Amino acid sequence: MNSEERADVVIVGGAIIGSAVATFLADRPDFDGRIVVVERDPTFRTSSTTLSAASIRLQFSTPLNIEISRFGVEVIKHLERFLAVDGSVPDVDFVENGYLFLATDAGRTTLERNHALQRGLDVEVALLDRAELRARFPWLHTDDLAGGSLGLADEGWFDAYALLQGFRRRARSLGVEERIGEVVGLDRDGDRLVGVRLADGGVIGVEWVVNAAGPRAAEVAAMAGVELPVRPRKRHVYHVEAPVSLGAAPLTIDPTGVYLRPEGAAYIAGFSPRDGDPDPDTLDLDTDRAAFESIVWPALAHRVPAFDHLRLLDTWAGHYEVNTLDANAIIGPHPVIGNLLFANGFSGHGLQQAPAVGRGLAEWIATGRYETIDLRPLGFDRIARGKLIRELNVV
Ligand SMILES: Cc1cc2nc3c(=O)[nH]c(=O)nc-3n(C[C@H](O)[C@H](O)[C@H](O)COP(=O)(O)OP(=O)(O)OC[C@H]3O[C@@H](n4cnc5c(N)ncnc54)[C@H](O)[C@@H]3O)c2cc1C
Repeated sequence: MNSEERADVVIVGGAIIGSAVATFLADRPDFDGRIVVVERDPTFRTSSTTLSAASIRLQFSTPLNIEISRFGVEVIKHLERFLAVDGSVPDVDFVENGYLFLATDAGRTTLERNHALQRGLDVEVALLDRAELRARFPWLHTDDLAGGSLGLADEGWFDAYALLQGFRRRARSLGVEERIGEVVGLDRDGDRLVGVRLADGGVIGVEWVVNAAGPRAAEVAAMAGVELPVRPRKRHVYHVEAPVSLGAAPLTIDPTGVYLRPEGAAYIAGFSPRDGDPDPDTLDLDTDRAAFESIVWPALAHRVPAFDHLRLLDTWAGHYEVNTLDANAIIGPHPVIGNLLFANGFSGHGLQQAPAVGRGLAEWIATGRYETIDLRPLGFDRIARGKLIRELNVV
């Protein structure tokens, strides 16, 4: 392939995942290659990153996801160590109110199993019975609940856009180049990618390509002839004003799957379809208030009776990049095309996973192995080997 321009690493997609990979790689003393991040929409208006609920938790059902989010919390709590530029540190306004997973009798066993696993990994989490829930959260309707799991530390929410800008600023300060453009093709020579084609006709010769294209990840993988089981699935966020304050409420997940958390003086709520409910692939962002009336509001009013009288302020939609096989990320090299790296399929938890994934792929590129968290169980080859890691706690 003839190409005048060359880069050591081209990252396709410059939102939270792409910019985290770029930052951690550029920060390594043992890497001095050229990193180019190609982003089709520098406003990030439709990226999952800016449309997300921007929350982080340790309450996962798989140990690796706990470890991954733990590093996410470390970064968010110590941005001065990771994202300072000329002494200035981004402010992401972390609200550490915890998550509260609620369960009826049907969900009690899963709640207890997750609790045991989390406690075994020193996650600060408390299992509350109905009476304890009522005492601690008097605004909750508890009659039909068996219990709840409350995160006591290292869980909450933050400003996703501020974190994104913090990563980008740090990356630029370390020499990462941002290119506005759309990747439309990947040139392959046998088992290697050799070039990245842009919509403006440009071609960049490469050593490594990182797929950080979020909900469009399967499109980018297809450019290399790879089928990636990641699909864009629409998720709504409803911004509501309530006549009462719930105080420092946690992000509360009802057994129906509907979640609620404070957002300033108001609240946001949403849900993911349950197994068997329609969940079509789509890249559109049209909003649907009907689901608020039929699913979200009834669940909220049941769980928080004071929310019977709330006002819908605003609705927006974004895309989960759903790994349709096991609702977990796909991270690392393609088993055949070894210089194509994936960071996809986060299925609703990619924002909090960005720091660990960014650091992990930086390690892989610089040294050929993971030095901190071993991300191999989330590798692409688990698909072929049928070694799925099913995450039960998908919100
Ligand atoms: C409603 C909602 C709530 C969520 N809540 C949470 C939460 O509470 N906590 C959490 O951790 N996660 C949450 N998520 C998930 C999280 O937002 C995503 O997993 C994460 O932002 C994925 O980041 P990304 O950089 O991979 O994708 P994106 O943010 O979508 O970025 C991908 C980028 O790639 C660019 N791109 C795509 N194709 C190309 C191409 N061919 N050429 C150039 N550029 C390209 C796009 O323009 C885009 O900017 C939520 C998501 C949604 C939608």
